[in-house]
Amino acid sequence: MQKIPFNRPSILGRELANVRTAVELGQLSGDGAFTRDCNQRIVALTGAKSALLTHSCTAALEMAALLCNLAPGDEVIMPSFTFVSTANAVALRGAVPVFVDIDPETLNIDPEAAARAVTPRTKAIFAVHYAGYPAPMDRLAKTARDHGLLLVEDAAQALGSTLNGTPAGALGDMAAFSFHETKNIVSGEGGALTLMRPDLIERAEIIREKGTNRSRFLRGQVDKYTWVDLGSSFLPGELIAAFLAAQLDEAGAILARRLAIFDRYTAGFQDLEGSGRVRMPHPPAGVTGNGHMFYILLRDIDDRDGFIAHMRAAGIGTPFHYVPLHSAPAGLRYGRADGPLQVTDDISARLVRLPMFWALEDAEVDRIITTAWAWLTAPLGQ
Ligand SMILES: *Cc1c(COP(=O)(O)O)cnc(C)c1O
Repeated sequence: MQKIPFNRPSILGRELANVRTAVELGQLSGDGAFTRDCNQRIVALTGAKSALLTHSCTAALEMAALLCNLAPGDEVIMPSFTFVSTANAVALRGAVPVFVDIDPETLNIDPEAAARAVTPRTKAIFAVHYAGYPAPMDRLAKTARDHGLLLVEDAAQALGSTLNGTPAGALGDMAAFSFHETKNIVSGEGGALTLMRPDLIERAEIIREKGTNRSRFLRGQVDKYTWVDLGSSFLPGELIAAFLAAQLDEAGAILARRLAIFDRYTAGFQDLEGSGRVRMPHPPAGVTGNGHMFYILLRDIDDRDGFIAHMRAAGIGTPFHYVPLHSAPAGLRYGRADGPLQVTDDISARLVRLPMFWALEDAEVDRIITTAWAWLTAPLGQ
């Protein structure tokens, strides 16, 4: 029996040819022709004012934390139901991640909980677009405006999604994207920071280039470059950018295929959802998704663990997802929870993700659905 992994990265077209071209062009370090090409494509896909390729979404989030001028004791509001990088970026500046609950329908940050968590020390909100569905940015933007906070999108999963017609990446002050091999468009490791505020662009370039004004130097705007600010090495080399450019070329095809898989799953689980046995993701009002993830919510942790074991025995990878940050050892040390985060604890115990990748075939999706049905329609107490 063929195994079906949760994820398998695919090569779609010109990736290897591009890498060869990059080698032939003779520049392997960053910010060459392929990096510029990727930056332009990401601007086109997101509508952001600027995009800067990074070596990961983690790096882009660390840049965002620097751009927010976070200092020790400052607070940043974020969901507990997220990847560790959202919180690390803040803690690395000595600031405090303040974890709030998620909305049980969307699994995104609860905007009322975010508003309640604001204190005089709050500097920013880091919103996460879970499963590629944009967080309620309009309500978060109001809170940010009322209190003078920066609004950052952790858009790692959300390239190609929109909220009220505006793409992820253009919904806050800045956004961090990931091209890790588990995301929709991949370069192994990779990421980007997009910026909506013109006044942040030059500083972002400096932070990304080890705190130097090298980008201005390369444009001929200064005759030597020098250390002018804090920074680090956040840029990828050209080989990564060359690979990524080929994937960005296929963004439309990748989006269409993932949405088709998503729809096939939705049709397959419709009846089980109707009977209350599972819950599937549904795009919130005003949102179009990007087919990043198809999850189902089971009854409880025993049902979830039994389901995972049942699927594994059939050769199908269906991992659970985030372990809440607010009760993790580093979350307790560096952050704090604003109130009990019951939805986060509940959802994280019941959620599993089904295989989702470019090369996943319809017949495989059907086998996954059939195998899942066998567990989900068996008498309780097994
Ligand atoms: C994948 C992911 C990240 C980290 O991305 P990297 O590119 O691996 O650093 C951060 N936040 C969220 C929400 C993610 O899904």
